[in-house]
Amino acid sequence: MNINQLGEFGLIAEIKSAFDKVPDGIRGIGDDCAIIPQTTGRDTLVSTDMLIEGSHFLMEDADPWQLGWKSAAVNVSDIAAMGGKPIATFLSIALPKGLSVKWIRAFMEGYGKITELYGIPLLGGDTTSSPDRLCINVAVLGEAASGTAKLRSTAKPGDLICVTGTLGDSAAGLQAILRNAQRDSMVKTLIERHYLPHPRVAEGLALAQCDGVHAMMDISDGIGSDLRHILEASGTDDEALGARIELGALPLSAETKTFCSRHGLDPYELATSGGEDYELLFTVEPSAEASLNVEHTVIGRIVPAQRTIEWIGSDKDFIGFRHF
Ligand code: ADP
Ligand code: MG
Repeated sequence: MNINQLGEFGLIAEIKSAFDKVPDGIRGIGDDCAIIPQTTGRDTLVSTDMLIEGSHFLMEDADPWQLGWKSAAVNVSDIAAMGGKPIATFLSIALPKGLSVKWIRAFMEGYGKITELYGIPLLGGDTTSSPDRLCINVAVLGEAASGTAKLRSTAKPGDLICVTGTLGDSAAGLQAILRNAQRDSMVKTLIERHYLPHPRVAEGLALAQCDGVHAMMDISDGIGSDLRHILEASGTDDEALGARIELGALPLSAETKTFCSRHGLDPYELATSGGEDYELLFTVEPSAEASLNVEHTVIGRIVPAQRTIEWIGSDKDFIGFRHF
């Protein structure tokens, strides 16, 4: 069997079961961050993510400044996903030998801009050469008041399913790059959404204050994949949870709608399976939804079902982005 057959999540499940001896009170593999309780009444949150040339970006097209921004952004998003406050990052880079110093300086400027904006110093990392492709790994530390981080595993039947922002813009931006689409202002906006995501830290912190918000994560692979993580982590085998999603309710930007109609793309496919939106996906008790002080869209409901998603408005199943 090769990795393609096992799949990304099959492999992670295998790693998790081989390394299941985790000290009491600590949460390890399975959520957006690990949670390590401290004696100070706060929990430390830790997450790490990698970006690989060819898989996550194309060297010919990636602007180094924007890539620097994105490398930090996607990691900070995992802290936002739990309603935490990011506090520091670590950056490891493997660089092909011919890479110009100008390129890496621009990369560091973009990285510096976002980490300054979010108030998170770079405290360390590692630098090495790569025989071929550029590889970037960022680790991020965050914190939350003890026990307040929002998990993937706490969705309840009847919860409303909500998202922040709009979905599919980043995927439309990627399509624009791959199709070499004419870069008018609409296409530029979408490409910017692809390279310059703004992690929803303030929104995550506000949602973490609300007891009615049950489960939360960030959207990195599209809701077709990410919502399934909430369904798999929540409920029990006897009382499994599923979701009903109203495709017509998905928040689509005018840019994504226009781009999709021009290029014969299905906007729902991009919004559910394109990924890299770095918006928040959360479930909330219906009685608490109206009083949330975070802009959001209700897209469906958690229902008793065998961990499946019912897409209302299409016969297709949308499975989200898969690495393998
Ligand atoms: P995210 O999309 O939020 O970054 P992933 O789907 O990448 O989350 O990972 C899911 C969970 O699996 C996380 O808890 C992550 O830390 C863990 N994980 C992924 N790859 C590995 C690995 N190689 N070793 C240990 N844990 C891993
Ligand atoms: Mg995540």
